[in-house]
Amino acid sequence: MTAQLCVTVTAGTTAELRRKRDAVVDADLVELRLDTVSDPDVAGALNGRRRPVIVTCRPAWEGGQFRGAEEDRLRLLDEALVRGAEFVDVEWRAGFGGLVDRAADRVVLSMHDFNGVPDDLVDRATAMRATGAAVVKVAVAMHRLSDCLPLAALGAQSTHRHRAVLIGMGEFGLPTRVLAARFGSQWTYAGELGTVGQLTPGELLDFYRFRSLTAVTGVYGLAGSPVTHSVSPAMHNAAFQATDVDAVYLPLRAADALDFERFGRAFGIKGASVTIPFKVALFERVDEVSAVARRIGAINTIRAEGGRWVAGNTDAAAFLEPLRDRVSLAGKRVAVLGAGGAARAVAVALSSTGAAITIHARNVAQAEEVAMTIGAAVGGLQPAPGSWDVLVNCTPIGMYPRAGDTPVPAAQLTGELVYDLVYNPTTTRLMREAERAGCQTIGGLEMLVAQAHEQFEWWTGIRPPIGIMKDAAVRRLAEFTRHEDHVV
Ligand code: NAP
Repeated sequence: MTAQLCVTVTAGTTAELRRKRDAVVDADLVELRLDTVSDPDVAGALNGRRRPVIVTCRPAWEGGQFRGAEEDRLRLLDEALVRGAEFVDVEWRAGFGGLVDRAADRVVLSMHDFNGVPDDLVDRATAMRATGAAVVKVAVAMHRLSDCLPLAALGAQSTHRHRAVLIGMGEFGLPTRVLAARFGSQWTYAGELGTVGQLTPGELLDFYRFRSLTAVTGVYGLAGSPVTHSVSPAMHNAAFQATDVDAVYLPLRAADALDFERFGRAFGIKGASVTIPFKVALFERVDEVSAVARRIGAINTIRAEGGRWVAGNTDAAAFLEPLRDRVSLAGKRVAVLGAGGAARAVAVALSSTGAAITIHARNVAQAEEVAMTIGAAVGGLQPAPGSWDVLVNCTPIGMYPRAGDTPVPAAQLTGELVYDLVYNPTTTRLMREAERAGCQTIGGLEMLVAQAHEQFEWWTGIRPPIGIMKDAAVRRLAEFTRHEDHVV
């Protein structure tokens, strides 16, 4: 069974609230936040509505904006019931017991805790249920991903008679909002309240395909921190949609590797991509690591096999993929710039190609360490002109927003092919200058998409249709760039 969607509308005036109410395109319910308007007018908010509504007038003491007297608030909620509102939201702590008793079947009894998950969460929920309210809503601040677990346990107790809406506030609580059906929630809220972690209706409906998510939908995600600017959710969700796999992919920000592990194992996630800063820390926590990931010293993918977590690293194979049809590396001189995580994966990939590899990095000790794992040479910070056939940039130099930077001056681009792992922008200054100098070029987007393809296939056994993931990645990168430019 899927969960319902409730779109929250806030506004400066009742007239604007009504306009925004009527502009909602796809929702099962609309929450009218009377506390946000300067002229709360119940009739004005309710008249002519086309969808069922929840009337909420959240007081400042529960995180809302209503600062008037409690009698006035009670009067507004009472009037909403009299005028036929499908639901009114009543704070458990408000002590409006008379109102709850009178119209229990139309009351959403709510409790917000902005400090975190209270120790007595279950007791509170039990007491709230005992009032007979139609729906018990619990919204608590999340300080780590595994804070979602007590809500999932609570949700497992909801029944048709005891309906619940369970929300984890903040970025760590994203699973509770998207996977409302899995958390036993009757509905999820969407809207403009991004500060408490609300997603927009568009994000829920189009990006996460909320209408198709049920309690048994497979859950995949990105383990990392931060995860907001990753394009992986866009790529994988597009691929799940295109291949009709009943699964969803979430950005799963975790406080640390243990936090991710706790959540992931208890929640039964089917797989995860792993990014900074957990590529090494989660390596230590999984049950099995592939030979390639072992050589690289880091994982980027986890697959759950029953209760076991098997991990691999798709970066090495993905790095080679775009080279396959362009150049034979045997006997070529390859200069690798940088000695971080990507350089290690690239070095391991190159070690099987018969190329002569030199690592160039500002940290010589790190360059030596990478070189040693594959028997490569160590060069100076910059590869000398004429010393390489293939140049691979494994530093972030040239990445958005510093797209004007380049790791190697144009005059020194003397080789055959330049491969820039940077994927935002998709064409970097290094690539432009290399093209002008007559080199072939490859951008980081191809590798990014190839590693996602590998992950997807490993998880599902299905090769996603050509172009689906790439198009999704390009769209997402453009959105991020547009948004940041706008913010700046
Ligand atoms: P990382 O672990 O932080 O390593 C970055 C390397 O670049 C380090 O050796 C670092 O040196 C060096 N570096 C950073 N800034 C530098 C500067 N201004 N001058 C000289 N050297 C500098 O990062 P990573 O994970 O390897 O990622 C590197 C780049 O590759 C990023 O742009 C990332 O987005 C990209 N990448 C792309 C893909 C893909 O699929 N296309 C996959 C992985 C990574 P220090 O250690 O001295 O700081």
